[in-house]
Amino acid sequence: MKAVRIKEVGKLELIEMDVPTVPANHVLLRVNSISICGTDLHELEGKVPVILPRIPGHDFSGTIVEVGKDVHGFEGGHRVVVKPSFPCYACPACKAGFFESCPDTRLIGLNSDGCFREFIAVPAANLIPLPDPVSFEAASILEPFTVGLNTFRKLKMDVGESITILGQGPIGLGVTRIAALSGAGRIFAVDVRNNVLKIAKEFGATETINIAGENALEKILKTTGGPTDIVIETAGASASVAILPALVKKGGKIVNIGIFKGIGSIPIEAIVAKGLTIIGVGGNGGKGKYEIALRLVEKGVIEPTRLITHRFPFAESLEAFAVARDKSNNSIKVVVFND
Ligand SMILES: [Zn+2]
Ligand SMILES: [Zn+2]
Repeated sequence: MKAVRIKEVGKLELIEMDVPTVPANHVLLRVNSISICGTDLHELEGKVPVILPRIPGHDFSGTIVEVGKDVHGFEGGHRVVVKPSFPCYACPACKAGFFESCPDTRLIGLNSDGCFREFIAVPAANLIPLPDPVSFEAASILEPFTVGLNTFRKLKMDVGESITILGQGPIGLGVTRIAALSGAGRIFAVDVRNNVLKIAKEFGATETINIAGENALEKILKTTGGPTDIVIETAGASASVAILPALVKKGGKIVNIGIFKGIGSIPIEAIVAKGLTIIGVGGNGGKGKYEIALRLVEKGVIEPTRLITHRFPFAESLEAFAVARDKSNNSIKVVVFND
């Protein structure tokens, strides 16, 4: 079978490897759809610690082709989506059943070889059956919405509160959609690209703000009419981290999502003076968010495929990565399919 591997920083290769054997509590999947995530690109660009060579990829769906001998409830031919992180099952938190508090959670494609290959063996415990109306493609783009669901679980927002969301990449768009579904009042979506702001509007942003070439703080406050109850940073840009306290009301909440390696610090004086609460969101947080996201897709209230700008067959995976890395082509989600 074929697989895509990060050989060294900046270098991807298409390799030939054996189809994996299937441990007793695993299933073998034919991978049908993969979406490229920012984390895959960070790994390729050496921005997150990863042991190379590594097969990237964690946002995917597939079809079961073989079932380990201890697996019950799944059989060959079942369509599934895979929850991509694994708790360690060994630490005190895991032993107590609090998997989401495991300090040693491992992500497929980062801490172990990922889904950028034609077949992968995964633990049956991480599978969710795909309802018929949900396509492989849609199921491989659940992550942004699971992060949105985790964000609003942690936020404990009151209905009608106003929100500014900085950055409308896939995660920002997922957060915007869940903000709208969670009963936010005015939702201000901020970015420098009109194509993503158009989707933000469709996803429920009440106003969009393009800050390209503008003084971001001035432009945002002019549109919002003053600080909002909540500000959510998804862009991972030092310029937007610096203006967070000025965008939020006294006593309000700041949410930081994503990776801030090497990004400037939040001004603590303003945090103290305004009595702000800062909430960190590192991912989907466990707690069944994939199951919920899938149900919302089935109901038709979230539409992951709206994020797709490019599709490639598996054999053209290297081109797919090149497109995802190139910021000049307006890519949002790049999907690789393997029918
Ligand atoms: Zn991801
Ligand atoms: Zn653990």
